[in-house]
Amino acid sequence: MSGKSYESYSDHLNERKSSFDDDRDSFYKKREETVKSARSEVRSKSAMPREKRITNDLYDESLVTKKITKPDPAVERVHLVLIDNSGSNARIAQHLRESSGYLMSVLEQLDPASQIAFMYCSDHGDRDKFIQSIDYLQPGKKGDKALYSSSQEVIPANGDDGAEAWECALWEACGLDFGKAKEKHLYLATDVVGHGMGMGSDDGCPHQRDWKKSKEKVYKTFTTFTVIGCGDDPDTGKLQTQFLKEDRIPFDLIDLSSIKEFAHRAAITGNALLFLIARNTGMQGVELFLSFLYEKWLHEPIFGDDTDQRAQDMIRRFGKYVEKPQKEIDAIMGKILVK
Ligand SMILES: [Zn+2]
Repeated sequence: MSGKSYESYSDHLNERKSSFDDDRDSFYKKREETVKSARSEVRSKSAMPREKRITNDLYDESLVTKKITKPDPAVERVHLVLIDNSGSNARIAQHLRESSGYLMSVLEQLDPASQIAFMYCSDHGDRDKFIQSIDYLQPGKKGDKALYSSSQEVIPANGDDGAEAWECALWEACGLDFGKAKEKHLYLATDVVGHGMGMGSDDGCPHQRDWKKSKEKVYKTFTTFTVIGCGDDPDTGKLQTQFLKEDRIPFDLIDLSSIKEFAHRAAITGNALLFLIARNTGMQGVELFLSFLYEKWLHEPIFGDDTDQRAQDMIRRFGKYVEKPQKEIDAIMGKILVK
């Protein structure tokens, strides 16, 4: 997703958000200039090495958590993120861990009063590494340090067979303590499916847990449930539709399997997560996030010379998951993507 520091994103986003909140028209007017100049620099910037985050003083042992307790009593909206930590998805998991600064600074702008917790999951055979958790965090600078420090303690796992134990990880997620939260949002990022969902390599669940029952429980427990398919196999992408209720499949599964380059899929996975979080805060959040993301991609051109076109395609693709009339989406895209 991105390796720059918390501050560099936070300052920029903060400035953008206040101008967005003040006056939408002048926000877009000013932004037009910035976008155009960023576009003209894509070629020269993509030839330069990418900036690396300096992490020397980020780790703080006292902030490390390994268990999910419960959110602060005043928190009304919680985000719980389940990330596939098995061998095949290890690099995506690693990428997300390295992006704590970006994640927490964007979350602070999108949903400052919320809290976020993480479960890194694999398979039963990984025993104590099957589920490795990071407790509820407040978005912001301390949250960034806590997420970075706790992430360092998450150990990559093997995963045994092709399927992962999502039937059990989802079940466990439903049993957590959500305090007084009124909205509970669950996000799942994986390149596979759970036991019994149709993967060729599947040794089954040793506890005979039925994934359909876990799915039912998820829908009863959480306000929303969304899935990011972050693998490169379209057949698995089809199997992943089973995680969701039939009528939610078009909106709640972001299948990235058509993106073949690993680096791009990794970068987009984290942004897909932020997009889904933004969607759960409402249309303003979506608009703010996508307008920021387009600028970010122009400034840090991960798609090389092709960045402008591919960034535009990707932003439009996110637009497909917005549940609004097409006309309204087109109008927002027009403003965000500046002609
Ligand atoms: Zn199981």
